[in-house]
Amino acid sequence: MLNIGCHLSSSKGYLAMGKTALQIGANTFQFFTRNPRGGKAKAVDLQDIEALVELLQTNNFAPLVAHAPYTLNPCAADEHLRDFAREVFQEDLQVLEYIPGMLYNFHPGSHVKQGAEVGIIKIAETLNQVLYKEQQTMVLLETMAGKGSEVGRSFEELAAIIDKVQLNEKLGICLDTCHIFDGGYDIVNNLDEVILQFDKIIGLERLKAVHLNDSLNVLGSHKDRHACIGKGNIGLDALVRVINHPALKHLPFNLETPNELPGYAAEIKLLRENYKE
Ligand code: FE
Ligand code: FE
Ligand code: ZN
Repeated sequence: MLNIGCHLSSSKGYLAMGKTALQIGANTFQFFTRNPRGGKAKAVDLQDIEALVELLQTNNFAPLVAHAPYTLNPCAADEHLRDFAREVFQEDLQVLEYIPGMLYNFHPGSHVKQGAEVGIIKIAETLNQVLYKEQQTMVLLETMAGKGSEVGRSFEELAAIIDKVQLNEKLGICLDTCHIFDGGYDIVNNLDEVILQFDKIIGLERLKAVHLNDSLNVLGSHKDRHACIGKGNIGLDALVRVINHPALKHLPFNLETPNELPGYAAEIKLLRENYKE
C-alpha cells in the first residue's frame, strides 16, 4: 500500500488532523509543530494526542512527519538565534515523544555569508546539543533547493552534517522532490542514478520520508517553488516512477503542493491509482 498524505493545518489540534487525513484518503500526514514562522508552542493537550495515537493505530497509519518552523536557523551567526533554534527543537522533541514512530523534519539552515562549511559545523553543534539517547523520534534533515545560502543543497553537505553528529543513529533524511530537482538532481531522466548517488554519499538506510512535489522551475534553478502534481517541470510520469521505485516505495510520501483539501484528495487518489503493489 502506498503511504501517502499531505501537509495539514494543526490549528484544530491533533485528533482533528487524523480525521481530516482519513477523509482525504491519506494514511500519513505532515504538520507544523507550531506557527511555521516560529513562536510559542501551544500548551500540550495530552488527551488530544492520545486520541490521535489511537486513530493512527486503528487505521494502520504510516509514520507521521512533524515539520519544525522554517524560520529556525540552527546555523545563524547570531548566538541568540541559535539558542532559540535549540530551545524549539528541545520543546518539540519532548512533545513528539508521545506519538510513537514520529519523524521530525527541519531545514538545516542558511549560512548567510559565513560559508557552507561554517554552517555545517554550527548545525552539527546544535544537533549535538539536542539529541539524546532515549529519544524515540527520528530527526530528519530536509534536502534543500539551494536558494540563497541554504545549507543542505547537496547530498555531500547533508552527509557532512551527519558525520559530525555523535548520536547520528537518531538522524535521517527527508527527500523533497522539488528541492532536489531545483538543486540539480535530474530525477526526471536519471532517477536510478540519483538514488545510487544518494546511497553512495549518504546511505539509503538514512532515507525515512519523501516530500512529493512538482516544481514550477527547471532543473538546477535553485528556486524552490512547488507545483501541483503533474503541473510542473518534473511531471506526473517522473513522480509516478518515484513512488514506485523499489528503494522508495515503502516510505511515507507527503504532498506539499499548492492545494486545499479537495486538491490534496484528488492528488492522493491519482497517485494511489498509479501505484503498483
Ligand atoms: Fe520543508
Ligand atoms: Fe519540503
Ligand atoms: Zn520547498
